[in-house]
Amino acid sequence: MTHRYGLADDAIKFLVKRPITMTDARRTAPPPPEVVYVADHRIACDGGGALGHPKVWYSLEDGKAECGYCDRMFVYDPQKARMDRQV
Ligand SMILES: [Zn+2]
Repeated sequence: MTHRYGLADDAIKFLVKRPITMTDARRTAPPPPEVVYVADHRIACDGGGALGHPKVWYSLEDGKAECGYCDRMFVYDPQKARMDRQV
């Protein structure tokens, strides 16, 4: 019986260790790219704020464009763009 308890202890230690490593991985993972809704097929992105970058223009030819500098995703959606401005 003592031997079986020993195995169970090892299993518990293993199970306790796993969630901690998963949390650490989530903490270091980059944040998901921000989605910006726009009402125009031509947009300019400069990153905004402290994380800014040189201003670049993108054309949303198939309804969306991803900024090569800050990974922002621009999606053409006039309705949502209007809602964003009101908030
Ligand atoms: Zn950008």
